[in-house]
Amino acid sequence: MRRLALVVSLGLLFSPLAGSHSGSLSLGGALRALHSVASLGPQALSLVPIHLAAAQQPSPPAAAKYDLLLRGGHVVDARNKISAVRDVAIKDGKIAAVETKLNPADALKTVDVAGLYVTPGLVDIHTHNYTGTGERGSYAGDNSVPPDGFTFRVGVTTVADAGCAGWRNFEDFKQRIIDRSKTRILAFINIVGNGMRGAKFENDLTDMEAAPTAEMAKRFPGLIIGVKTAHYSGPEWTPVERAVEAGTSANIPVMVDFGTNHPERPLAELVTKKLRPGDIYTHMYSGLRGELDPSGHVNRGMVEGRKRGVIFDVGHGGGSFLWRIAVPLVKDGFVPDSISTDLHIGSMNTGMKDMLNVMDKLLALGLSLDSVIAQSTWNPAREIKQEQLGNLSVGSIADVAVLRREKGKFGLTDMNGARMDSTERLMCELTVKDGRIVYDLNGISRPDWKTLPEGYGPIGDGRWDGLNPARGTTPGTQRGRSGAPPR
Ligand SMILES: [Zn+2]
Repeated sequence: MRRLALVVSLGLLFSPLAGSHSGSLSLGGALRALHSVASLGPQALSLVPIHLAAAQQPSPPAAAKYDLLLRGGHVVDARNKISAVRDVAIKDGKIAAVETKLNPADALKTVDVAGLYVTPGLVDIHTHNYTGTGERGSYAGDNSVPPDGFTFRVGVTTVADAGCAGWRNFEDFKQRIIDRSKTRILAFINIVGNGMRGAKFENDLTDMEAAPTAEMAKRFPGLIIGVKTAHYSGPEWTPVERAVEAGTSANIPVMVDFGTNHPERPLAELVTKKLRPGDIYTHMYSGLRGELDPSGHVNRGMVEGRKRGVIFDVGHGGGSFLWRIAVPLVKDGFVPDSISTDLHIGSMNTGMKDMLNVMDKLLALGLSLDSVIAQSTWNPAREIKQEQLGNLSVGSIADVAVLRREKGKFGLTDMNGARMDSTERLMCELTVKDGRIVYDLNGISRPDWKTLPEGYGPIGDGRWDGLNPARGTTPGTQRGRSGAPPR
């Protein structure tokens, strides 16, 4: 009885939204509705999508103009300077239209996403994914994680592995992980030929060769999108210099994890002299290399470096984000160019939880949602020169995240276990990669099972469904095994 009563009350609550898919649906109204739902508690929240999914679903035309239509969500697309309610249509894996109102009769599948945020698929440019080699204590082994378990469920469709492999083992990484994952995996190639196999390898200057590194990068353009240097403990500039040499030769950026702090190679000199415009300094809020000046303000060198065009990235990880560094730096206006996780076994269950958790931290620091989305989509895509990603321009790759902004009492912890309280968090409702739904938390794209014929089989259509397309048919032939009509 209680359950029914809730459904009815939510139905009333959402009826003005469900009936209005044009630009007349204000964000304020949508958010107010969302807040009201949130105040009903988690049980109520779980019912919302059921109601939304029950909204009228037009019968799909035989030859549809669009494969998938996401209807009535608040679109945030930094590239096109859109932050407003829009319908988003997808065809053949590409964005086909973004308009204030599109006709559901033109789409094979329509999903009502009113009250939710629709963003480009998130781009996480600092992860570690070269797992499965069996090597212990190594990022070319046990320290890395398979990406698919950590990406789609938080709206991430693209990751860039941050230097686990060098030119000696990149092809093994590719065949072992990159070619077998559903997540789009790009890679920074390590300047160390052996990659991140531990201190013995990562401190070996003789294995840091620019020529073979650049050669491997040129063999895989668009896959190897940068050069990484990391974890170096010596006082020399050699790793940075060789990485920049390789990056210049292959025309790709360099990402720097600046390793052990040394007076011989100060941070200010790195970002004002050694790096090129477009090169990336990751771990910007670690505080490990003087990011925060003893005066309590941002290192002036970082400000100068930013003026030159050097990029600053979060790279949270297990040991690179402190509230006592991030708070004063943001107060000084030093916000990230890009937000990234530094996902690996040592970070995945610590202060860092996942991409949305890191984005939540920047929201808690006072950044706007539009900024945080830009820093997790269009900015990182541009940094790695992959402008077909991270945006919703017509013709761009149809990677999309549908996010819920949830109000409540939450806590966010840093690398040392210090907590900041927060009042909102982002949850991922739906993820689309290459035009197909690859994650759907509450089944908002699915019919109620009670409406299906007895003995129903997989009923999705391969043109929009990456989860349950009808078996035994080619995508788009529209017939489930049970003979169920197309939905
Ligand atoms: Zn890392």
